[in-house]
Amino acid sequence: MFELKVVTYFAASHQLKMVAKKCENLHGHNWEIEVCVAGENLNDAGILVDFGELKHNVSEIMTTLDNKFLNELEYFDDSNPPSSENIAKYIANSLQTMLKDQKIKVTSVTAWESENACATYLM
Ligand SMILES: [Zn+2]
Repeated sequence: MFELKVVTYFAASHQLKMVAKKCENLHGHNWEIEVCVAGENLNDAGILVDFGELKHNVSEIMTTLDNKFLNELEYFDDSNPPSSENIAKYIANSLQTMLKDQKIKVTSVTAWESENACATYLM
């Protein structure tokens, strides 16, 4: 198996209800996003998937998140709040539907919400 990773960023705000039912204050993060895709077969040029295509697809997903109040996006709601966990899942599922080559699988998306805290969604 070969795995490729691209790293990108977006800035947005969210508000999460914490376990104690006390609403966390509205706040923002500069999320760092790591996207991994994998596959077994390389093309004639020796590549799994063109980095340009991968980055283009990922940046299209980033435009749906960048500078947004994430709670207001259609994808997120009270049962699927915009936590780093659910953001990672959203990016993973969105990217998988965008990839033309069905043999290329998104394997994981990691959303870093700070320098030392991240959530990973494994497909
Ligand atoms: Zn937060």
